[in-house]
Amino acid sequence: MIPAANLHGRNHPAFLAEQIQMLHAPVAPTLMKLSIDLLTSAPLLPNGAATILAFHVWRYSAMPTRRHFLISFVTTPIVLPSLGHAASTPVELPLTASCADDHELTPAQTEGPYFTPESPEKQDFASDAPGGERLTLAGYVLTKKCQPVAKALIELWHADESGTYDNIGYKLRGHQFTDADGKWWFETIVPGLYPGRTRHYHVKVQRPGGNVLTTQLYFANEPGNQRDRIFNEALLLDIRATSDGKFGRYDFIVA
Ligand code: FE
Repeated sequence: MIPAANLHGRNHPAFLAEQIQMLHAPVAPTLMKLSIDLLTSAPLLPNGAATILAFHVWRYSAMPTRRHFLISFVTTPIVLPSLGHAASTPVELPLTASCADDHELTPAQTEGPYFTPESPEKQDFASDAPGGERLTLAGYVLTKKCQPVAKALIELWHADESGTYDNIGYKLRGHQFTDADGKWWFETIVPGLYPGRTRHYHVKVQRPGGNVLTTQLYFANEPGNQRDRIFNEALLLDIRATSDGKFGRYDFIVA
C-alpha cells in the first residue's frame, strides 16, 4: 500500500482505498481486494468523484458475508423459549417465529413430482449450479418443546437457477444430519422459477425414530406467492442479504 504521505490529496484513490482497508479489512477480504485494485489502478478521478465511489464501495464491502452469518449461527448457543433463557451468552440470531408460535409443528406440504429417493449425503449444493445466486440455508430441528434434535435427517432438493430439476442424477439433491446442537446447513443457490409455482425449496425432515415431515420453504416478497395455491407464510425463510449472496434461516418443529 502506498503510504498516505506520498499521495497527492485526500481524494486520491489509493488514499481512499487505504482508509477503506483500515476500516473494513476483516470484512469480505476478496471483495475488498477487488475494490482496492479498482481504486488504486484507476487514474486520478475528478474532485469528489473518488469520495462518492469510495463511499459506495464501503457500503457494499461493509456487509457481512454468508460465512459470517453461518459462523454466527453455528457458534451461537440456542435460546430455549420454554425455559425463558439462553444457554449462556446473548444470541444474535434468535429462533425463527415458528418455534415461539405455541410450539406448533412445521406444516407439512406436498412432495411434488420431482423427488428422487436415495440422495447422497452432502452439504455443498452450490458446485452443482455454479451460475446460481449463492444462498446458505441453515436452521435447527426442534421438538414441540423447542428442544434441539441431534442426528435428525434433513433432505433437500430444488430446481436450478433456470427452474429445472435434475431428474436423472443428484444435482441439487442431498441429505445430511443435524449436529449435536440440532443445527443443519447447506451451501446452495436461490432456486429458479418454473411455471405454476412460486420460488421454493423441497425438504424432508425426520428426527431419529420420528415421522417424516415433507414440506417446502418459501421466500418473502415473491410476486408468485399469492398466486401459488399451496404457498404458506408459516414456511417463509428468514432471509438476510450478504455481500456474497443470501443467508436463509428456518427452524423445523417435528413430531
Ligand atoms: Fe418444486
